[in-house]
Amino acid sequence: MDHHATTPVDPRVADVVLDAMVNVFGNANSVDHTHGEAALELVERATAEVADLIGSDVAGVRFTSGSTESIRLSVGHAIATRRDRVLRVAATTVEHQAVLDAIRIGIRSGLAEVFWIEVDAEANIRPESLQAALREKVDLVCVMGANNEVGTIYPVEQIARDVHLAGAKLLVDGTQAVGRVDLRVIDWGLDYLAFSSHKMYGPKGVGALVVSNAAMHSEITEHVLGHDGTLNVPGIAGFGEACRLMGAEGPGDEGRIRACRDRLEARLVQDLPDIVVNGSRGNRLAHNLHLSVPGMPNDAVIARLRNKVAVSTGAACSSGAQTPSHVLKAMGLSEDMQEGAIRIGLGKWTTQDDVDRAAAEIVAAVREVGRSMRGI
Ligand code: PLP
Repeated sequence: MDHHATTPVDPRVADVVLDAMVNVFGNANSVDHTHGEAALELVERATAEVADLIGSDVAGVRFTSGSTESIRLSVGHAIATRRDRVLRVAATTVEHQAVLDAIRIGIRSGLAEVFWIEVDAEANIRPESLQAALREKVDLVCVMGANNEVGTIYPVEQIARDVHLAGAKLLVDGTQAVGRVDLRVIDWGLDYLAFSSHKMYGPKGVGALVVSNAAMHSEITEHVLGHDGTLNVPGIAGFGEACRLMGAEGPGDEGRIRACRDRLEARLVQDLPDIVVNGSRGNRLAHNLHLSVPGMPNDAVIARLRNKVAVSTGAACSSGAQTPSHVLKAMGLSEDMQEGAIRIGLGKWTTQDDVDRAAAEIVAAVREVGRSMRGI
């Protein structure tokens, strides 16, 4: 129930990884012999599968270790192409920590400045705030495809139009969205798209940065983004297969996952009248359910669910740190609501039986914590 943090590897993907690891062990950069050539062929096939899923050409695809690296490379590349002055970046206040950190590094180095794009109580972008940032003549706008905490989906096609009209470039953090919502690099002119294999039933430690032709810069692009090292061929092959499966089966899976999510939500809302569903009910990822039990410490609920139901308090890298979520803060949620927040993320193998068991366990945990708070 925490598929936003990561997903289990699809056994079909694992077969591809194992086969590449054992049978195609050549170095994709050493093509003087057939071992290297076979490895390069796997990388090329994976590149085509990645490009296919997000409507890009293969020339734009670069393999990385995951979204964090892809995002850092994008911001670094945007800074490098603006050598004459600091990079003016606009970003939503609900971006993932990976984006916030990349921007912060640029600011600390004196190479970037930031303009914030505000969101409403459902984490939707406030259009007037986006327009205000665009009037500041920003160079780069960072908008995620979908939020990793409350699941809100962003109108990337429309945003890309506005951003380009203002003469800026767009970086889309597609980590939670790719394969689940429509994102098209060429048709929508996305300049940088970052995403990760381990959020789509692929192996960890591999992801992609897709760069549009428009964002390429003859000297700088290869210098900043070129990959001279030995490629992670098994990981890349597995990532390609995960993308192929997401393209072929993702839309069908989404319907089933949404039905399970709605069943879970209905059970919880019925049995726990105080519960509030956060984010946009009509415009969120099908597998996302973000709840608050106002005033109830979420760590106490999660501790009672340990070894029974895997849910989280928020973003993978923030949970455990016990710091309030910057996303919920940006949405203007009260401290009570922030304190009682629980993030649930279903997956393609979550069954109705899992949902019913999870609902029963969550209801029992919340009631137990409620009783102990009242000293009963
Ligand atoms: N962006 C978003 C929206 C995420 O959810 C995550 C991971 O949780 C990341 C970026 C970082 O991804 P990775 O783990 O591939 O570095």
